[in-house]
Amino acid sequence: MMNLTCDIVMDLVSIYKDKLASQSSYEAIEEHLKECHNCRKYYKQYDSINQKELEPENHNDYLQNDYMQKYTELSVKLNNRRKLIVAGMAVFACASVFAVLISALKPCKK
Ligand SMILES: [Zn+2]
Repeated sequence: MMNLTCDIVMDLVSIYKDKLASQSSYEAIEEHLKECHNCRKYYKQYDSINQKELEPENHNDYLQNDYMQKYTELSVKLNNRRKLIVAGMAVFACASVFAVLISALKPCKK
């Protein structure tokens, strides 16, 4: 069994928590945390800091910002589309008028 010093355990706490440590490191850290009050305290502190970063409040904020950004993008797109539709209708109306005019003028040319 590998005996880790407190320094090493504190260094490895982050990968231990993220489950990125190898099996033997993981077991050694776990063993040390069981026996060492200081490192357990440090681990708990580290754990609570990490959880604060992922608090639902912050997460919602992020989602809301993301949503607002998507919403803004979407409304800009819709606005552009509306302009395109209006422009398209105007072009179509002009074309219709032209078609009517041309068909009205045709008999005169004969
Ligand atoms: Zn320790």
